[in-house]
Amino acid sequence: MAAGENQSWQELLSQSLQSLDCPSEFSSIVSKLSSGEPLSREDGHFLFTTRDLDTLGNIANLVKQSRFADSAFFNVNVHINQTNICTLACKFCAFRRGRRAPDAYQLDIDEYIEDLRKYSSHVDEVHSVGGLHPEWDVDHYSSLFSRVKDEFPEIHIKALTAVEIKHIANLSNLSIRETLSTLKDSGLGSLPGGGAEILDDDVRAIICRGKESSAEYLDIHRTAHQLDIPTNCTMLFGTIESIDQRITHLLKLRDLQSETNGFQCFVPYPFLPDDSRLPEAQLATGSEILRVIAVSRLMLNNIPHIKAYRMNIGDEIAELALQFGADDIDGTVQKESIMHLAGSNAPLDHDKNELAKIVLNSGSSPVQRNTTYTSFEKYIIPKAPERRNLPMASGD
Ligand code: SF4
Repeated sequence: MAAGENQSWQELLSQSLQSLDCPSEFSSIVSKLSSGEPLSREDGHFLFTTRDLDTLGNIANLVKQSRFADSAFFNVNVHINQTNICTLACKFCAFRRGRRAPDAYQLDIDEYIEDLRKYSSHVDEVHSVGGLHPEWDVDHYSSLFSRVKDEFPEIHIKALTAVEIKHIANLSNLSIRETLSTLKDSGLGSLPGGGAEILDDDVRAIICRGKESSAEYLDIHRTAHQLDIPTNCTMLFGTIESIDQRITHLLKLRDLQSETNGFQCFVPYPFLPDDSRLPEAQLATGSEILRVIAVSRLMLNNIPHIKAYRMNIGDEIAELALQFGADDIDGTVQKESIMHLAGSNAPLDHDKNELAKIVLNSGSSPVQRNTTYTSFEKYIIPKAPERRNLPMASGD
């Protein structure tokens, strides 16, 4: 899928950048990208503030093209949010409920399995994240994952964010390593990246007090990587963070990746506003979302995939983001609560054809992937049935 068999994507990138005619203020960045040198904090500042969004997008797109040519990826998955009951109350979260709330819910194992059964014939991934349930410990999740694997052995389980892992470990009196290891033995295949928010403890103290610290987030992912559990990583932007804090976030992820190489994909997504939760949020505009995608592609030179998470940013911006350095638009999803309660209007009824259309509209070629980016299939939208040759109407 990437650069030619005998040429690395970095070589291809150097060649493409040589022929790029771009303004001189980008020249030191272009020269670093050409030689594979990681961009610095100062470079990040420049990219986050330059008014030349076109050039930024063009360079990010060249990097994406060098890695993946014109391919853009999606998968066929279902999201099942197992419970909205949560012992924390992050300020930006519209999903969590207290245990006694009239709309609090928890899917027991049978209910979860029956939910998944409805989609099991046509998905290859179940993505499950939820609240920090006060009683569900490692035994609960081990039983759940074992049951999923017994009933649907082909379905990959991508589940539990870092804070859920920490919570389960605490409830179970186990270390993070023991918890992850037990869950892996029960069928857990990978971790999503949720909960990173901004990896700066001053920001976290305001928007998600009580959640895992920045160091704990990174350490849980590090431990997962050491156990051969691949993970994704995320960034929630547009709350109260500064540009410098965004860059710190990106650099921390890049540093961990250079140590473990266990991140598959980076997923930046903006805070979706409502009237009550975080009135001081700065909120990201459409062009800011595209800028963050492009900057991520350039700063995170060692994380292969950058996702335009259409569930959060919507189909239209996701389509544009594929021209600003993103190479992935996530999956069919089918069922999702967290982003939708936070204000997302992204459609949930997309099938593969709909996802493929988003990719084609962006000028890329749709490729269906599995969760771990180890299996790829070019996706061609089936032709509509041939119209029959009907005789011309002759009534008038
Ligand atoms: S973001 Fe997660 S941990 Fe925080 S309140 Fe919502 S469900 Fe709970």
